[in-house]
Amino acid sequence: MTATALERDAARLYVAYLRHLRHCPRSHAGPACSEGTRLRKAWTAAQWASLRGRPLPIGEDASNT
Ligand SMILES: [Zn+2]
Repeated sequence: MTATALERDAARLYVAYLRHLRHCPRSHAGPACSEGTRLRKAWTAAQWASLRGRPLPIGEDASNT
């Protein structure tokens, strides 16, 4: 998957999560809403995948990945 496709995935999941927050009355600070937690985890995972799909920024320790 290209970095662009990964970024698109992350953006799409972020929009889905925001849309959920707008309509869901439950608290999202804890585990009260499993759907919100699922969406947030999917978005976070997509963000990391997107970051890993790119070259490391200059100065970053490559052993940290
Ligand atoms: Zn929710």
